[in-house]
Amino acid sequence: MTCARAVFRCFRTLERVGDRITGAAGPLFVTLAVVLLSTGTLCFFDIEQPSLRWPWLTTPICVLIVFNMLMHYYWVCTVSPGFIDDPPRQGGSDWLWARRRPTTKGGPLTGVRWSDDVRITKAMISKCRKCGLPRPERAHHCRICNRCVLKYDHHCPVLGVNQCVGLHNERHFILFMVYLVVASFCYVAIGYPSFLEAIGYHYQPIWPYRVPALAFVLTYILAGVLSLAVAVMLGWHLWSISLAETSVESQDHDHYRKVAKARAETFVNSYDLGKRKNLELFFNMGRDGYPSYTLLFPFRVEPYTDGWSWARREGYERHRGVREGDELTDEEEDD
Ligand SMILES: [Zn+2]
Ligand SMILES: [Zn+2]
Repeated sequence: MTCARAVFRCFRTLERVGDRITGAAGPLFVTLAVVLLSTGTLCFFDIEQPSLRWPWLTTPICVLIVFNMLMHYYWVCTVSPGFIDDPPRQGGSDWLWARRRPTTKGGPLTGVRWSDDVRITKAMISKCRKCGLPRPERAHHCRICNRCVLKYDHHCPVLGVNQCVGLHNERHFILFMVYLVVASFCYVAIGYPSFLEAIGYHYQPIWPYRVPALAFVLTYILAGVLSLAVAVMLGWHLWSISLAETSVESQDHDHYRKVAKARAETFVNSYDLGKRKNLELFFNMGRDGYPSYTLLFPFRVEPYTDGWSWARREGYERHRGVREGDELTDEEEDD
């Protein structure tokens, strides 16, 4: 037992060191991401874009894709994910915010989308053992931010986001990945003749562009790798969203499924309203939500809930197959 405890403690220490490094390296990743995104954009408009046919059509499309990618990146890094002790948020009214459709219930919709279309019930409240604050379902304590985040997905240093992805910035996170994948894919597909020129495969006496050939070669290779890696990550995230699960929940629910199965019961995720509806709620679209053009422009959009109420399946108040005491918590014993 003591041996197991020592190993456990050792792992805990390693994990904490990992968290510190991740926290400290965050600004470095952000700088790297900003440099790469801006160099890629410069290379594209200097080298690739002038070679495109039908510029009256392709230029606006390219500008829109790049604009979406950069703006969603900016939003995911700067919009706070939403903490449990935040005051209630109101959507802004300036041009950055998309206009909502008039609601079927009438009246302004702020905070929660109380709509005939979905059944929304108040979240169950528990107390976080780390910060001692009451928190709603789906909130988790982030060890790096040391606060409880509403609809916590994960703490993201990898793409240079350097903060938690949660209720208020998850939509920007997904759309940033979508536009990053589209942009990198186009960059690779359109730029291969220039790439061959740059590495000397097609002999050119002079490099006729303003951006150095080395910058183009490096961003081109990175875009190739990124478009594949991020596409896989994005696919996984979209699949989880269509099942109404966050990254944390997708692991927790696997565990609940096993526990329920061992008791010959079936686990049912009470947030799961079907793939289409789950995706609609995530992007806050559909009836009483925002119109679909909000996916094509980098507008700010409020989530359908304030994080203290959740849409649920008809007839469910909690997940089926999970008994009192089965629930996984993210707080480990602090000994
Ligand atoms: Zn907490
Ligand atoms: Zn965090």
